[in-house]
Amino acid sequence: MELIPSFSVDHTKIVPGIFISRQDELGDKIITTYDVRVTRPNVEPAVDVAAMHSLEHIIATFLRNDPDWKDQIIYWGPMGCLTGFYLIMKGGRQPKEIHDLLLRAFRSVKDTEEVPGAQAVNCGNYHMHNLEMAKWQAAKFADYLEENAGNQQIFEYPKSDRLVTDDGREFFDS
Ligand SMILES: [Zn+2]
Repeated sequence: MELIPSFSVDHTKIVPGIFISRQDELGDKIITTYDVRVTRPNVEPAVDVAAMHSLEHIIATFLRNDPDWKDQIIYWGPMGCLTGFYLIMKGGRQPKEIHDLLLRAFRSVKDTEEVPGAQAVNCGNYHMHNLEMAKWQAAKFADYLEENAGNQQIFEYPKSDRLVTDDGREFFDS
């Protein structure tokens, strides 16, 4: 399988969706990093930080327990800009192939009665959770994913040249 080349993203043109951020070879295997972009960067408010933290716990728990997918999941965690999540998976699937998985993951949030692992023994900042806001954000994104299932724009990033810093280094945000 051909790896996608390293690219930068034009953040002024991003819409919410599921995008390939990068692909890496590990021996003869490929692992893929996806950006699961929940809000539109710099246009609508980023996700509330406590809701983001709750969604990190709830969706990581969902993905790592899904009988069909749990063995494919390497990592799920929040972006520093609070507009989405990083998902790292085994294999080289197209974003469309994990649309249903992520739709189910975000839909599952509404049935959550308690954020899993929100105790001092499990979490580094267990007071910083907001389940009600997490439910609101998850429902909004799940509706969007469902309505846009046939829209290729939610699966393909607007690419641009990689930024080079003044001291000559290439810029990466993850
Ligand atoms: Zn935590």
